[in-house]
Amino acid sequence: MGIFDGLFGKKKMAAPTPVARRPLMAPGGMGKRPDPLYDEMNNYIIVILDSCRYDSFLAAEPKVITKLGPVERRWSYASWTAPSHYNLLMGLLPHTSPPHVYASDYYKEDFIRFNERFGAKDIEFASFVPHLFMPTYLRKTLGYFTHAKVSLPVLNPKTPINRDFDTFKLMEKHNDMNAMLDEMTFSSERPSFYLFNVGETHYPYARPTEPKNLWPRLSGVHGVFKHLDDHVTEGKLKDGGKTEPFFDQEKLDILRGRQIDTIQYLEEVFTRLYDMVPKNTYITVTSDHGELFGEEGYFGHGPIQHDKVYEVPFLEGKIR
Ligand SMILES: [Zn+2]
Repeated sequence: MGIFDGLFGKKKMAAPTPVARRPLMAPGGMGKRPDPLYDEMNNYIIVILDSCRYDSFLAAEPKVITKLGPVERRWSYASWTAPSHYNLLMGLLPHTSPPHVYASDYYKEDFIRFNERFGAKDIEFASFVPHLFMPTYLRKTLGYFTHAKVSLPVLNPKTPINRDFDTFKLMEKHNDMNAMLDEMTFSSERPSFYLFNVGETHYPYARPTEPKNLWPRLSGVHGVFKHLDDHVTEGKLKDGGKTEPFFDQEKLDILRGRQIDTIQYLEEVFTRLYDMVPKNTYITVTSDHGELFGEEGYFGHGPIQHDKVYEVPFLEGKIR
């Protein structure tokens, strides 16, 4: 049985589209967008606090961000930025990990929540078929404008995650959510969707005002692209694959404190966000994965199998 069996009811999948002899849309275009499908639809914003641990979020005691609703402890489907954002954009928001529930039943129930988020009716898991990609559904079925502003280069606009977005921008600085808000606009004609991938909470956990020379420097962790090949010579690991000595717990505790500090800093950015959004705006705030600060010898996220790398905060609602 396939993993989606039972999710699509008795509806048959559409027959494959015949191969077109010429492009179906103008270069740079994405085909016709329908009028908004329902009368009172919401703008929908999903804010991903990259790497933000659930317990860091609680320790920061945010008073502004939490105006949206109660903070839930949830679990991400993935431990690294790229696959996690793919899941999020499929509509698979961090899950509640309920026991004694079939996955197919969980997906069905969870997708019904999109009616409230979008101000729509009749949305179910099958509505996302066959693309299984939220921006495609928002743009081509519900008539949304779709935008992404990302902080991490692994989500840059050339990656396959940039699909059916009207605009998709890798921000100049990796840690400046305020700059995203400078460019946020809404239309009275149709609802807007925004994905904000926020980097303040990502290593090195720095406020945008902090000079770079004060950022903590950990050898081997500065940029997965920049240093990934440094250790490889003619297909072999240099020095037999030896890495720098692992940093001490004292340093890791400082880093955890820095992540908490960035959440406290983001309070003022969320104040601005909540002031800027029109009345009919639904907002989800969560993380793409957690972060390890020394537990069982781990630092960071990605190739780590540990509860804390999946545990994330989740909250959502309308601010007014
Ligand atoms: Zn991430």
